[in-house]
Amino acid sequence: MLNKLLEIFSNYTRSLEILYLLNDLKKAVRLDANEIELKKIKEFCNSKRLHLQVSDFKVIKITDNEKGGFSNLVKKVDLNHPHSGLYHIYISKNQNTARLLKIAEHNNDDKTVGEILNYPNCCIDFFIKNKEKQQKIQNDYILPALKDSEGFKFPFYANYAVRYFDITLLSHFPHNFSCKDSIKIAKSNLECIKKRSNELANKFEKMLKCPVLYTENDGIFMFQDYKINDDILEYKNVISTSKNELFELLNNKKTIEIISKNEVKVMDKVLKDIGMVVFI
Ligand SMILES: [Zn+2]
Repeated sequence: MLNKLLEIFSNYTRSLEILYLLNDLKKAVRLDANEIELKKIKEFCNSKRLHLQVSDFKVIKITDNEKGGFSNLVKKVDLNHPHSGLYHIYISKNQNTARLLKIAEHNNDDKTVGEILNYPNCCIDFFIKNKEKQQKIQNDYILPALKDSEGFKFPFYANYAVRYFDITLLSHFPHNFSCKDSIKIAKSNLECIKKRSNELANKFEKMLKCPVLYTENDGIFMFQDYKINDDILEYKNVISTSKNELFELLNNKKTIEIISKNEVKVMDKVLKDIGMVVFI
């Protein structure tokens, strides 16, 4: 089942959304798809009796800085825009729900979109509250969520910072990294994966349990095989969204001094306005 989904939906994040939908953990999902993907997805939805609605606009992605080609910001354009672009698609077992989701997004009604997608209310409110400010930068909500979080160690279920590596149990930004409702969703999602593939569930859990260094413009870094003594993080391996200078430094030194959740030191280099989070 999972392999079949991967074939059609290309990555874990999108495939798992469909898995949750088929298992009634979500009443609708929203994805983006290009022309070729859309054809495959339509066939899949027909075979599963899923209802699919396609947006009456296309989006062109504005790629984030140093996030491995990831885009949090998109620009809406007309369907007949010459740029190929991506469609937004809305899928549900219920035709009306798929329609409502399409209309809500058309109206930029974030509240209704969030509700139909089963996001917790606390996280919808957080998204709306921070949207204007974040859209001016890269529309990423990791730092605002961290600001609202107590301390810097959190349950791995809420690790939404490594979604850049196609690993996540959530489909929304948690309002903080201890958000109970988000953790509850992530737990049932992990259970759902476990029923299909113990191997994948274990892989996810292992990968999600890690320290993450988040920077707005210099990449996201996750550390493996690590230990923390006092404020010193030591690790054997670092994975990053970009192979830049900072990656070279982190890869050579294998040690970070954690000054606060927003400041770290690597050798003599002090990094400010970052997010340093440990998911356990
Ligand atoms: Zn929340």
